[in-house]
Amino acid sequence: MENSLNKNNHRKMFNIVTATWNPISGCLYNCSYCWAKDLALTKLKNSKRYAKGFNPRLNEAEFRNKFTKGDLVFVSDMGDMFADFIPSEWILEVLTHIRQFPEADFLFMTKNPKRYLEVLPHIPVNSILGATIETTNDEIIQVDKVSNAPLPSERFEAMKALDWKRKMVSI
Ligand code: SF4
Repeated sequence: MENSLNKNNHRKMFNIVTATWNPISGCLYNCSYCWAKDLALTKLKNSKRYAKGFNPRLNEAEFRNKFTKGDLVFVSDMGDMFADFIPSEWILEVLTHIRQFPEADFLFMTKNPKRYLEVLPHIPVNSILGATIETTNDEIIQVDKVSNAPLPSERFEAMKALDWKRKMVSI
């Protein structure tokens, strides 16, 4: 499981995706509905990667993976690699790796899309920049403590401001 390009279980969320790849895994946003955290803390809890829970980590073994034409790779579906608590060096390492594969496509999804702006000059053009916006009602997130991620309205504004050809919002 240390090197886990997953070509079998990728249609769980988006049917355009051909594989998932987790060079960065884990997340501290603690969304109440997070299937990745549930998986890490149950079925995968004995794996080296999740032995210390769903904490963010860089998975060096993943950088052995190569990608080819026709691949549409969902990057870090087992976490949020653009979250505020992820070191910039980790993000840049992932972007540097995927730059070697200009014929494949890469999908990023985050609940902190303002962070795309920080590294925008380093993002290869074969990337789709996405955000999850689960409600138009910030109060649901705040009052009910559904998630520690930036508020949905902030994500919406960040995606609107993002100057990128291929954007995606998961609602
Ligand atoms: S942001 Fe994504 S990975 Fe992080 S806790 Fe929420 S649903 Fe899970």
